[in-house]
Amino acid sequence: MINATALVIGSDPQKKLQLVQSLSETQLFERVKPIKTPTALFQHLKNKPVDIICWAMENTEPKTEWIGKLQRHDLWNDLPLIAFADNQQSLINGFNLGASDSINLSTDTHELNARLQGHLKRWHRLLDLHQSREQLQKMALTDALTGLGNRATFDMSIKQATAQIQRSETTLSLLMIDLDYFKQFNDCYGHQAGDEVLKQVAIAIDHSARESDICCRYGGEEFAVILPDTNAANAEVLANRIHNQIARASRKLRLNRMPITVSIGISSTNRHRTTHPTTLIEEADRALYQAKEKGRNRTETWRATTIRPMPLERPYSAAQQLAFGT
Ligand code: GH3
Ligand code: MG
Ligand code: MG
Repeated sequence: MINATALVIGSDPQKKLQLVQSLSETQLFERVKPIKTPTALFQHLKNKPVDIICWAMENTEPKTEWIGKLQRHDLWNDLPLIAFADNQQSLINGFNLGASDSINLSTDTHELNARLQGHLKRWHRLLDLHQSREQLQKMALTDALTGLGNRATFDMSIKQATAQIQRSETTLSLLMIDLDYFKQFNDCYGHQAGDEVLKQVAIAIDHSARESDICCRYGGEEFAVILPDTNAANAEVLANRIHNQIARASRKLRLNRMPITVSIGISSTNRHRTTHPTTLIEEADRALYQAKEKGRNRTETWRATTIRPMPLERPYSAAQQLAFGT
């Protein structure tokens, strides 16, 4: 027994019953579940793990749209779909309709066991590969230290967010957050304590933000939050919440000699201004620079008239310019 679950689909109750019995006799399955309709099949697939679909075919199969739906799904497309019939024409038809294998309904238990085991082993190997691929994809987009989105996620998300506002009347805001005097903190408390602080700051940012906000580690001791559907005033509210949360975390860590603070730069835009990610980042960066210059532990919002250009432009890498299409 491999602890597998088989779903049995088909419109002839007699054939379905026969198939359920044959499958149970193989002792490969913990559960052999007859399914009444394609709708019930998909409901089951969505909610519970399934290892094989066994299909008791009609001699002339009417509609098989459900097979197309299985084939269009990233995972279910690989799920073994075995057609069972009692005549050669139907067995061939099963293959033509998209089954992974066709087996005669009267095949004896030993042969059935051997053939289905092959399908189940292949499916479980594919399932492992699928899970590894999902994990790798997640790792590729996540910052290992803080669990927030990483730089690749930020680059992708800011591009998507600025593209979206081109098609709407909403405002998009961006927060760039930089820890104050963090080099001194590392020198004073050590790099590992510094890493712990970065984790706490990430938690503070994540807890302050809404579900729809995209929180990322931009690099080193810098974080970025993309705020869809948010104007500058509301972005400032979030920035205040972040300052407060970080102050609380700093008190908890008892870092009295050197409390943790951040400086925040905000930029906002809509489709009537700039929809270019590089410009939005540059403006938030200038506001951040201003916050640093005005004494740190504060937020500044970019406004065309009040924020002076930075003495040194933030250099953009060739890869970033390529990504943003500058
Ligand atoms: P400012 O207020 O002007 O931002 O000063 P700062 O010291 O924070 O800025 P600076 O750019 O001089 O130093 C950034 C420091 O951040 C230096 C580096 O050691 C530290 N840092 C960057 N990434 C990490 C990390 O992953 N872990 C730790 N512990 N420290 C980091
Ligand atoms: Mg920095
Ligand atoms: Mg800093």
